[in-house]
Amino acid sequence: MSAFPLVKFLTSAHQAHQFPPDTGVEVAVAGRSNAGKSSAINAITQRKGLAKTSKTPGATRLINFFEIDAGRRLVDLPGYGFAAVPGPMRHHWATLVESFFRIRESLRGAIVVMDVRHPLTEHDQTMLALAQARSVPVHIVLTKADKLGGGAARQKLAQVRKAVGGGATAQLFSSLSGEGVSEARGVVLRLLAAKPQKETPVGPADPTGAS
Ligand code: GDP
Repeated sequence: MSAFPLVKFLTSAHQAHQFPPDTGVEVAVAGRSNAGKSSAINAITQRKGLAKTSKTPGATRLINFFEIDAGRRLVDLPGYGFAAVPGPMRHHWATLVESFFRIRESLRGAIVVMDVRHPLTEHDQTMLALAQARSVPVHIVLTKADKLGGGAARQKLAQVRKAVGGGATAQLFSSLSGEGVSEARGVVLRLLAAKPQKETPVGPADPTGAS
């Protein structure tokens, strides 16, 4: 049976005030345009048409909220392509995504989808930094792994893991072959089940050790 039998589109937001109520838990899925994010969301949720896939880089401009079931959401964050986005739109994107990461108390983790052939672009680094600033766990999904040989894909995975250090976990993925899909689904489910983390680590709760 599907892990997300009730998943459905909830709402799109072009502005922060259009975000749904900030209750329950949610996991954000981010990625540069054309990285394969929509295909990854559809593969993870086992719903072919849930997130729109397109061959036009930059087609998604809104934050899309999907309800897994009452109180649990997946949030599809828009990404931009290389030079495809004019300045004002890019500014709007940055403002919208930044406010999402800043204000959503229900955020439990972030998945950053990257094309395994071109990981850790400037856009990817921005998404990683925004998620890490919130101290939520970040998991990198290196998709289109089918486009590389197994050895080359594993080499890329090792490079990415080394580059991010302890800042994120990472895996190989292909919505085409199905590689890594259940692993990614497991990560999403674990993040949604996790207890909230403290916003800012402040060291030992009781430095005197009295309690
Ligand atoms: P998004 O813009 O990040 O949401 O990317 P899409 O999911 O729309 O995918 C962009 C393009 O890459 C589409 O043509 C997809 O068919 C293709 N694509 C996505 N995932 C994979 C994958 O795992 N393997 C291969 N070979 N192609 C993929």
